[in-house]
Amino acid sequence: MKAAVVPELGAKLEIRELPVPEPGPGQVLVRMEASGVCHTDIHAAHGDWPVKPEPPFVPGHEGVGVVEKLGPGAGLHGVGERVAIAWLGSACGTCGHCVSGWETLCEAQQNSGYSIDGAYAEYAVADDRYVVTVPPEVSSFEAAPLTCAGVTTFKAIKVSRLAPGETAAVFGIGGLGHLALQYARLAGARVIAVDLEDEKLDLALDLGADEIVNARRRDPVEAIRAYGGADVSVALATSSQAFDQAYGALRRGGRLVCVALPADGRIDLPIFDTVLGGKSVIGSIVGTRKDLADVFALYAAGRTRIIAETRSLDDVNVCFDDVLAGRVPARLVFEF
Ligand code: NAD
Ligand code: ZN
Ligand code: ZN
Repeated sequence: MKAAVVPELGAKLEIRELPVPEPGPGQVLVRMEASGVCHTDIHAAHGDWPVKPEPPFVPGHEGVGVVEKLGPGAGLHGVGERVAIAWLGSACGTCGHCVSGWETLCEAQQNSGYSIDGAYAEYAVADDRYVVTVPPEVSSFEAAPLTCAGVTTFKAIKVSRLAPGETAAVFGIGGLGHLALQYARLAGARVIAVDLEDEKLDLALDLGADEIVNARRRDPVEAIRAYGGADVSVALATSSQAFDQAYGALRRGGRLVCVALPADGRIDLPIFDTVLGGKSVIGSIVGTRKDLADVFALYAAGRTRIIAETRSLDDVNVCFDDVLAGRVPARLVFEF
């Protein structure tokens, strides 16, 4: 099978011919139909984070395809069923986090395309219990961006407790941001979109943003304060400065939801303002299998839109360059 492999951290990816993996106990073999490019895959290939993946590895955690073979003991999903392979490749299922609805915090979790091989390949094996069924109304091409960008921002809006009538500022209208702003609107909020690229902000308007701020031309803190400030800021831009701005844009009682993971990311948090202003800083990591099922159902009900472009796996390095340059319409998706 064809796969894109990170040969060493920081190196260009290589397209290699690998054997089709055999599903082990409790695993399914998935024949990939679509696989999205999340900015996390770029961080993974570059080794941007304190916990590093071990090369060689296959990135990708927005994988959607058809179950082709069952390993011993698998059977929750049948042969022929379409499933999504998300960042949460597996978890222990028994720890306090797992049994309290916070499987995404499990200390024993495996992560697709990071600690285990992922979805930048024609086939992948995955844990039968952690793949999520894709409903027939959602195509594989659409399901791919929902599998990380969708579930992550859906969860981020949930943990922000964004309420109808509040104002949400979304920093970064990329793969995640284009969905975050739609979930914020579904929560009944007024939405202010912030990015550096005019094309991304045009997209934000098209998707229903109420205000846009180009952070290259205007100070987003001043601009958002002039609009009354944000009850919730969602930080989706790969820049520490954007996190400081997202915090600075908050009104009293505001909540900053940290989602992006810039290399060496730090927030400069003023304690006095946080205390007197009753502000919260919340970290949010992907979402559960149930969150993803909800995300698919919302899409199937026509409540969200996916903006994405098809690319070939052979062009993976060009894709990374284009994402880093902000040249892509929200999401790139490999189709097989
Ligand atoms: P992306 O590259 O598609 O989008 C990032 C957007 O931010 C782009 O539109 C870019 O133009 C914009 N941007 C960059 N610098 C900015 C700045 N200073 N101010 C405003 N906008 C700016 O990336 P993505 O796939 O949406 O991922 C975003 C981040 O979220 C990555 O760091 C990724 O690793 C992380 N992520 C986190 C989780 C999680 O569960 N916490 C899940 C998925 C991705
Ligand atoms: Zn656990
Ligand atoms: Zn992701």
